[in-house]
Amino acid sequence: MTPLARHLESIASERGFILTGFASLHRLDERAGFFSRWLAGGRSAEMGWLAKAPEKRLDPRLIDPRLRSIIMLAWPYTPPRIPDIDWRAELRGRIAAYALGPDYHDTVKARAGAVAAALAVARPGSVTRVYVDTGPVFEREWAAAARLGWFGRNTNLLNRHHGSYFFLAEILTDAEFDAPAEPYREHCGTCRRCLDLCPTGALADGYLLEPRLCISYLTIEHRGPIPRAMRPQLGAWIFGCDVCQEVCPWNSDAAAAAPVNDALAPSLADLLALDDDAFRRRFAKSAMRRAKRRGLLRNAAIALGNSGNPAAIAPLAAALASEPEALVRAHAAWALGRFAASDDARAALERALMREPDADARAEISLALDQTP
Ligand code: SF4
Ligand code: SF4
Repeated sequence: MTPLARHLESIASERGFILTGFASLHRLDERAGFFSRWLAGGRSAEMGWLAKAPEKRLDPRLIDPRLRSIIMLAWPYTPPRIPDIDWRAELRGRIAAYALGPDYHDTVKARAGAVAAALAVARPGSVTRVYVDTGPVFEREWAAAARLGWFGRNTNLLNRHHGSYFFLAEILTDAEFDAPAEPYREHCGTCRRCLDLCPTGALADGYLLEPRLCISYLTIEHRGPIPRAMRPQLGAWIFGCDVCQEVCPWNSDAAAAAPVNDALAPSLADLLALDDDAFRRRFAKSAMRRAKRRGLLRNAAIALGNSGNPAAIAPLAAALASEPEALVRAHAAWALGRFAASDDARAALERALMREPDADARAEISLALDQTP
């Protein structure tokens, strides 16, 4: 490692990064065929930005021809222990651990920016570009190239000492850094826990993730109605999903060490009652705003339907009667249809059918009523 690389590693460590690695930029030829098949198969789904400028993604030097190397950084987040609660009885939803606290895009980027600033001091006139999940960069591939870990079957980057609960940040630079002599060894071995325990079967052999089956994609990135067949499989998840990380043996120490955190389990009825202002106030500084109000409330309605708890009927009926977003009303109707035997659920659906102006929501109400005895 060069003295400059050692200096930057030490600055990164002072700033809280747990892993630092360097790689020289090249075209990711080994990824090109897989990526074009992935795009051709429609797997980018509504993540249109993934299909934009694919060549830049494969070769970051096309972003700026002066760029020579990449500095990869890993910032840990604490996966809190899940509160010991009965999700159905308490009508609570689950959110992925990474979304707790302030939006990581801001906090991690500021710290990575400090490392880039140190590079500029050590090497005046340096060209640097700092990204956290925002640039046209295959972060996990470059993290593997920089020897931060290996690409696991759950498609996360895994490190033997830190598991996978970390965010990646990268600094593209015109400085030259050597690539590691050897790649990080793969340690999944014969384990298949993430494939076997994914609630929706979204993971497949060959390190493949089908976004259209993945709860993280459906609850965060997908904007329209959740496919009806997928709704029961979402369970209580309302923003993201941690199952394939929770079951990974390389994360077992992290999970055991963390405190219990109630914020992982917000009240579904409270969420479903959030108006625009309340949503903005509650999630202005959170990564959860990415789902947008209508998406988060849609997810909360599904989780209430999945609870099987009759206490869910009142908040669902209120949403069906007064929620301004047709998407949310449609999912509230579906959820009420899960309580087909309840007079209250049926009455709420019948009242809504008479006044529902949106065709899709009306269709959901009719389908829900068809399920009543
Ligand atoms: S995030 Fe959840 S749904 Fe998506 S692959 Fe992992 S376990 Fe499956
Ligand atoms: S659960 Fe097993 S197969 Fe999946 S990423 Fe972890 S070690 Fe690899």
